[in-house]
Amino acid sequence: MEDKLKQVAQWIVTSKRAVVFSGAGLSTESGIPDFRSPGGVWDRYNPEDFAFQNFLASETSRERYWQMATEFYEPIKMAQPNQGHLAIAELEKLGKLDCVITQNIDGLHFKAGNSEERVIQLHGTAIFVSCLSCRKRYNRDEIQERIIKGQKAPRCDDCGGLLKPATISFGQSMPERETQEAYHRSSLCDLFIVVGSSLVVQPAASMPLVAKRYGARLVIINRDPTHYDDMADVAIHGQAGSAMATILEHVKKELGVGK
Ligand code: NAD
Repeated sequence: MEDKLKQVAQWIVTSKRAVVFSGAGLSTESGIPDFRSPGGVWDRYNPEDFAFQNFLASETSRERYWQMATEFYEPIKMAQPNQGHLAIAELEKLGKLDCVITQNIDGLHFKAGNSEERVIQLHGTAIFVSCLSCRKRYNRDEIQERIIKGQKAPRCDDCGGLLKPATISFGQSMPERETQEAYHRSSLCDLFIVVGSSLVVQPAASMPLVAKRYGARLVIINRDPTHYDDMADVAIHGQAGSAMATILEHVKKELGVGK
């Protein structure tokens, strides 16, 4: 494993456009459960309850959605970036990161120090809430206050529209600008590093393929094997946090930068 991590570090040092593609597995070490691991969200909830169509369909579904979303938001609010997020933020400071394409909705790349313009949030963010009718944006904490006070499915102050966390649910359209930008960056990069993703959620999971097709090296760092490991130049099965921290150490050594 050490040799592989060192190899990835060398590729980062020589790359001109390195993209990190992160998934829920990067944030489990910060205490946020992923979807598909044992004990993850899918062990406790029915994925149907997260479906956008159901959210639109009835007040009962919306109330259930907000109840789950509230439970899911607690660890997100409390979470701090782990050594994996911090290493990725450090790569940006070293000028070795084109961008992060993240499926995560937890805002931890920002808490770690990555800048707004370098992070593409493909599946939105849990830190805000938006009105599905007029698009007014609210701070999540403000809306959670209303839930604590007894509102079960909050509505927009301005237009009475349905409020929903600004995340992309199953069945909801992908954000156009972010999706286009992510495909564009995937096609231009020379190194594409997947960290902590099962690579099963589409269209996000097609991005490593786009990168590979356009000639980038593909690295996959995930605890469990993925369907794309065979086409990766390097696949590393281990903890995202320690893997990224070790890679960063090697990058700094190669660049002659102090700790
Ligand atoms: P996923 O749950 O499908 O897969 C997570 C993968 O991470 C698994 O294959 C698992 O083996 C691996 N993993 C777990 N802990 C790890 C660790 N410490 N180190 C390395 N690998 C680890 O997640 P996904 O591929 O991101 O897709 C699921 C969807 O889940 C995304 O759309 C995302 O929006 C949403 N989600 C986000 C969060 C978050 O923001 N933190 C949390 C749960 C789900």
